[in-house]
Amino acid sequence: MDNGIRAAAASGSLSQHPGPPSVSAGNSAVASSSWWTMLERAPRSVLMLDFDGTLSPFVRDRMQARMYSGVAERLFRLAFAPRTRLVLVSGRPARDFASLLPAELHLEVWGSHGRERITPDGHYSAAPVNAAQQRPLAQLEAELLRHGFASVIEKKVGSLAMHTRGLAGSDAERITELAQDFYGALSASGTNPGLEMLPFDGGVELRGTGCSKATAVETILREEPSRTPAAYLGDDQTDEDAFAALDARGPGSLSLRVLVRPQPRPSAADLWLAPPDELLAFLDRWLAAVAGAVDLRPEAAR
Ligand SMILES: [Mg+2]
Repeated sequence: MDNGIRAAAASGSLSQHPGPPSVSAGNSAVASSSWWTMLERAPRSVLMLDFDGTLSPFVRDRMQARMYSGVAERLFRLAFAPRTRLVLVSGRPARDFASLLPAELHLEVWGSHGRERITPDGHYSAAPVNAAQQRPLAQLEAELLRHGFASVIEKKVGSLAMHTRGLAGSDAERITELAQDFYGALSASGTNPGLEMLPFDGGVELRGTGCSKATAVETILREEPSRTPAAYLGDDQTDEDAFAALDARGPGSLSLRVLVRPQPRPSAADLWLAPPDELLAFLDRWLAAVAGAVDLRPEAAR
């Protein structure tokens, strides 16, 4: 790892990149180290991490995705760290997603954009869409199969994703066009039962409304004391929903929204990290902050 980054992380001045105009002005708590100080003193904290593009680089075969070197060992340490609840939040189907993690790593996992949850002890729950929403998803799947695009389809609870990463431009365009035409016709007919078409980094997805990564974040935070510091790290447009859920805690809340990707883009995030080095430094700094015993004395007594 870059020694400069490690030093910056250790001093609490971790990486507020100069001047990417596409990321918001930034959370001064990070730059000023008060975020880390607050984390060191908090009796509990929540660290929520997206997977694809955040912990792992994109690959053409999505089931071959592997985390950046050094991430898995840090997840193990975070999973056993005192005072931190570690959660992975992904758009992938939860069970597919869990199969990409080391078998010995038992984490809380949310899949399908907040529709599925697997607890660390393996309990599975899901909030499927209704039959009226499911019908068009099946129709679009059939349409894609008819055009020979079986390999791009990912069926999830409550959505159908079409992956175009790595395809020839003409195929990618055709698939996007098919999906958009289908969605356009559904909307124009006035019979949309509650579906939305959303782009993501590497494709488009038709999914049931009423559930997003914000749902996962909101549920997780409801289960925690209200002043629990919480951070969410993500790369994609769908992670903006999670950022918004953190933002909804209001001013003065103890939240940190972190965009993780090689280049910044327009985002509600407070901070941008370029993986893997800055991501690893961030996780190391988090581990250092929660490793010690919490000081529960009143401020004046310290
Ligand atoms: Mg992602």
